[in-house]
Amino acid sequence: MSVFEHIEFDQHEHVAFCHDKETGLKAIIAIHNTHLGASLGGCRMWPYSSDDEALNDVLRLSKGMTYKAAMAGLNQGGGKAVILGDPRKVKTVALMRAMGRFVDSLNGQYISAEDSGMSVADLKIMAEHSNHIAGIEAKYHVFGEQADGNPAPSTAYGVFVGLRTSVEFALGRDLQGVKVAIQGLGHVGMRLAEHLHKAGAILYVTDIYPETVEKAVSQFAAKAVSLNEIYDLDVDVFAPCAMGAILNPANITQIKAKVVAGAANNQLATEACGQLLREKGILYAPDYVINAGGIIDIYHQKIPSSHDAMKAHIERISTTLVEVYQRANELEQATNVVANQIAEERFTKKA
Ligand code: NAD
Repeated sequence: MSVFEHIEFDQHEHVAFCHDKETGLKAIIAIHNTHLGASLGGCRMWPYSSDDEALNDVLRLSKGMTYKAAMAGLNQGGGKAVILGDPRKVKTVALMRAMGRFVDSLNGQYISAEDSGMSVADLKIMAEHSNHIAGIEAKYHVFGEQADGNPAPSTAYGVFVGLRTSVEFALGRDLQGVKVAIQGLGHVGMRLAEHLHKAGAILYVTDIYPETVEKAVSQFAAKAVSLNEIYDLDVDVFAPCAMGAILNPANITQIKAKVVAGAANNQLATEACGQLLREKGILYAPDYVINAGGIIDIYHQKIPSSHDAMKAHIERISTTLVEVYQRANELEQATNVVANQIAEERFTKKA
């Protein structure tokens, strides 16, 4: 396993391999870029099948955070941590404490938060050993939800405003009567369904858990569809809110929607899929731009701010998307390519 020659290595500033003999903790922390500020990104715990798989994930995810922070207008860099192990089997309080000490050893150049396999409670244990933990308390919230540090309500709100803007841009209409297919009704997808329903959209939904589908059917008048049907429905918008790499050359040919706008990270199987979407006349909202509500939330919880300031910042996702869409039209380039260019312009300049 090489690091500097690794396919996902892209001028990362710091990659720390962490091992604690007493607890058996094995983790990797990657800081991609701190040009705009200290790096911020979640800590993921996952049963990786190899060290290389974990390294691959942390290098890719930390780079993604640099782009996401830059596009969200945050004076923050990109970083990420991964803990190797099944969170349901090997997670202990001692392990979390050891992880907290490793985060602290980086003296604030990496600020950690929640990701898959990690809860607010886990991060609170890490915070006993480091001041560089975020997403553990919430002073501000969106729409009256109990604020507990979980950024999903803010992510969902950001996706909602970004989706609304994308529909205006592509179809020149508001959301009343617009048909939206939502893939995945988890923390973000279900809240997105609620926003869309209130705005008058007609929903088609799918999830691997029937009970979540039933909830959307009964509460938001959604129509349930099968896992495979979701791609080629006769709808206006496809909103991927489940897993990554779901837009590939095969299913892009199936999609009838004119807009793809959803929460999932890394939606494109390859960067070239952005161009395929463009050639089909589908407006693609770059994932790390539209799903930045959560990181904006975490940022505001750490600084003197207010509910209104946080909400206004999340709503600026719309302005950023329009900037991307207009430049993509001018340059006749895919929106993901243009988003990367704008992010790079921002994070290579000093804050
Ligand atoms: P979640 O785990 O709560 O929800 C995901 C949902 O997708 C689950 O209900 C799951 O059953 C469903 N699902 C999984 N595979 C599916 C499939 N093949 N077809 C249909 N449904 C399927 O996750 P979440 O927090 O809602 O996040 C959703 C996506 O948004 C993820 O890709 C995540 O990385 C991304 N994201 C989340 C946040 C956040 O604040 N939670 C922020 C940025 C990006």
